[in-house]
Amino acid sequence: MAPADVLIVGAGQAGAQTALSLRLGGHAGSILMVGDEPDAPYERPPLSKDYLAGERDAARLYLRPAGFWAERNIALQTHAHVVSIDATAHTATLETGETIAYRALVWAAGGHPRPLPLPGATLAGVHMLRTRADADRLRAELADAIRVCVIGGGYIGLEAAAVLAKAGRPVTVLEVQDRVLARMSAEPISRHIEAQHRAHGVDVRTGVTITAVEGREGRVMGVALGDGTLVPADIVIAGIGLLPNQAVLTAAGAECGNGVLVDEFCRTSLPDIYAIGDCANHPNAYAGGMRVRLESVQNAIDQAKTVASVLLGTPQPYRALPWFWSNQYDLKLQTVGLNHGYDDTVLRGDPATGSFSLIYLRAGRVVALDTINALRDFNAGKKLVELGACPDRAALADLTVPLKSLAEPS
Ligand code: FAD
Repeated sequence: MAPADVLIVGAGQAGAQTALSLRLGGHAGSILMVGDEPDAPYERPPLSKDYLAGERDAARLYLRPAGFWAERNIALQTHAHVVSIDATAHTATLETGETIAYRALVWAAGGHPRPLPLPGATLAGVHMLRTRADADRLRAELADAIRVCVIGGGYIGLEAAAVLAKAGRPVTVLEVQDRVLARMSAEPISRHIEAQHRAHGVDVRTGVTITAVEGREGRVMGVALGDGTLVPADIVIAGIGLLPNQAVLTAAGAECGNGVLVDEFCRTSLPDIYAIGDCANHPNAYAGGMRVRLESVQNAIDQAKTVASVLLGTPQPYRALPWFWSNQYDLKLQTVGLNHGYDDTVLRGDPATGSFSLIYLRAGRVVALDTINALRDFNAGKKLVELGACPDRAALADLTVPLKSLAEPS
């Protein structure tokens, strides 16, 4: 195959943005984006939201219209899985045995769902939700199913639960921690979200022990719990986290941990190889310089812009403010900043009104906000986090004081 000036592995959110930013920045060399899915780059967030609900068709998932990539002279090869990289020779090899030479390689390979570590995990009717194909399989099977059991009270599981409960299905959510979203948010957010699900008829069970997925004739029939009960289910959706796709880079000799280790310019430990998006483990200024691996559209896009800046010869370090959103029922959860190591929280507003924010502080500084149906707080919160503001706690809690008035540098 013809050599590529820039070879992008992974035609997802981060890969697509890299190609786009390179062309926008005037990159004249060849760009080849290879991805192992059948699709051109598309958005994943709708897969657990309106696409799962059948309210958005497949054509509206794509990041750009058909023809867009070719028009910009960005070669896109789908169904193409990279199996190895020779960092010294600057070549990548596909499953078909084809070898592609590159000047620079951007590893934007995302991750795969953590497998369910349970007997029965591979029974028919047990689903994960990462790709459009996953969502299509789930939607097809839902046509003949009634009861749904979601394993894992993280964003994806909760969003899927919301869609299916809204459609009138009996849904159970099983969470082994004592509350949903335990890894991401503090208790008031978890409890509010649990209450919303219960109000919509979802049976949310926290602090459970899950022992097996039970089946009959190769098909799931329920989920067995440690207390001897069986949660009956025709469909199980497992959302218990993501593992970064890094095996190829590890084998190539790149330093990896929980993700491919990169510096603030998204450079791996291998020459001319970069890693971005869900698979990249990077030092983040908003986590006090600690290494993190973020799974968000914002991070994928902003790291792509960083790597493009490096390849364009105008390197800009990755300093983007992290933010994230989740939609469940009429509830819009928006998060800004990273709450790692927070030592205090301030509740702003009354959860009973359906609109409130939780502000996370570390040594008096605002490090993150979870806002629920509170767009104004989210926008003002961006400034507070960016500035590392240290406002008075009472003022943060006082709804008569606009948050933006507290965004003063300290
Ligand atoms: P991906 O988009 O996963 O792209 C990686 C691509 O690389 C994939 O197509 C993969 O198949 C391919 N690939 C992997 N290995 C190889 C290989 N060896 N060779 C070739 N190709 C390879 N984020 C938000 O901010 N808000 C949300 O509301 C939200 N909702 C989500 C809902 C769901 C159901 C999911 C799954 C994710 C959601 N996310 C959300 C997360 C967001 O979609 C990801 O953070 C984002 O897609 C990461 O982009 P990426 O390019 O790093 O990875």
